[in-house]
Amino acid sequence: MQPANGRHRVVILGGGFGGLRAAKALAREPVEVTLIDQRNFHLFQPLLYQVATGGLSPANIAAPLRSLVRRQRNCRVILGKAIDFNLETKEVVLEDERVPFDTLIVSAGAKHSYFGNHQWERFAPGLKTIEDATEIRRRVLSAFERAERVSSDAERARLLRFIVVGAGPTGVELAGTLIEIARHTLKKDFRRINPAEAHVLLIEAGPRLLPAFDPDLSEDGAEALRRLGVDVRLKTMVVDITDAGATVKSGDVEETLPAATILWAAGVQGAVIGEALAKAAGIQRDRAGRLVVQPDFTLPGHPDIFVIGDLSTYADASGKMLPGVAPAAMQAGQFVASVIAARLSLAPIPEFHFKDPGSMATIGRGAAVVKLGNWKFSGFFAWLTWLFVHLLFLVQFQNRLLVLMQWAWNYVTFNRSARLITDTNRFLGEPEN
Ligand SMILES: Cc1cc2nc3c(=O)[nH]c(=O)nc-3n(C[C@H](O)[C@H](O)[C@H](O)COP(=O)(O)OP(=O)(O)OC[C@H]3O[C@@H](n4cnc5c(N)ncnc54)[C@H](O)[C@@H]3O)c2cc1C
Repeated sequence: MQPANGRHRVVILGGGFGGLRAAKALAREPVEVTLIDQRNFHLFQPLLYQVATGGLSPANIAAPLRSLVRRQRNCRVILGKAIDFNLETKEVVLEDERVPFDTLIVSAGAKHSYFGNHQWERFAPGLKTIEDATEIRRRVLSAFERAERVSSDAERARLLRFIVVGAGPTGVELAGTLIEIARHTLKKDFRRINPAEAHVLLIEAGPRLLPAFDPDLSEDGAEALRRLGVDVRLKTMVVDITDAGATVKSGDVEETLPAATILWAAGVQGAVIGEALAKAAGIQRDRAGRLVVQPDFTLPGHPDIFVIGDLSTYADASGKMLPGVAPAAMQAGQFVASVIAARLSLAPIPEFHFKDPGSMATIGRGAAVVKLGNWKFSGFFAWLTWLFVHLLFLVQFQNRLLVLMQWAWNYVTFNRSARLITDTNRFLGEPEN
């Protein structure tokens, strides 16, 4: 149904980095924006690992979508899950409603990829959502609790072994924080076990960690992690994961590592809804389940459908791929909004140029690696830079203030005050006894 004011209807699927930026960029345009998300909040994924390790609470890194667009009169929010698309009638099909559009922007993000080994997921959860983070937090803290109560040395060692698979920024951040929890935060909390005896392993199939960074920063990162006590194993493949632990292979040598907690940070693929969109649009997805888009982020043969962010594969004129990071999704969101505005006002269509703001990863307490243009550095100053940038990009001032206070407190006291075991084991559907 056309809106009463006859305005152009832009429907945005996904209120993450790309979708929210597109919605905001359309604030002053003569359009009606409908922002659809299955969650009622925008999530700052770069700090999820802090929730997973008890440093921050979920509300510190999420903000209700309605409050974020409260002042934007041309934008309404629908809490709903998209399950399909009808591109003939130009509708997004939700579970209980159909939402018509003139232009559609899809920014539905990504999910974990277990490279075909779906059975590993229940033993090795990944980190993408608030639920993932609280599940990881539950597993990590429960492992220490159970270790305190067992009498078998072997079982205690299994409970105190933590394996992180994948040494991109998330894997590195998780491993660095786990060792900090074991060696500092929990130091005096238990009577029978010594948490510092925990064995934290970071397993990476490639030859170096943080592959998106320059090799010398990867080396700095590996060295910093090893100094903290993390067992970093490069050129090592995970070949099996069960509830007992992981089997890894390095060269021809296979080793089974009993472990109660295994965390997956090794691969991503396009969100599930991408499959329905590709089918409706009659196009193929790439091997990672993403939709290949044109230079203006539209789908081939569908000028009214834009796909941005982690669900899209975008190559610039020189063939360089757009990275799957928040700034790329946000810049794409801003850009497609400008294309829509230009089309409506019959102005020249702009071209997209990605401005790479650099990349950074924190290694642990007081250590990080940063690459900003030609400038690269590691150590304490890099860590301060990381803190500052992440605070700056948190969406609400209230969250920035709360996170700053938490971090200052955590740094001074070594404490992580959100160390709560709150959830049931969602993979088993009930709490463990
Ligand atoms: C743990 C972690 C750490 C990261 N760290 C960094 C970092 O330090 N720096 C950096 O730049 N990037 C980082 N990233 C990557 C960054 O978060 C993503 O590149 C970015 O979120 C992509 O934006 P997007 O809009 O494509 O998707 P998202 O921000 O993921 O948003 C997708 C939205 O779509 C919604 N959605 C999905 N399917 C449906 C459906 N069927 N119906 C309704 N709604 C739906 C989701 O609920 C979600 O809100 C990190 C990612 C993770 C997971």
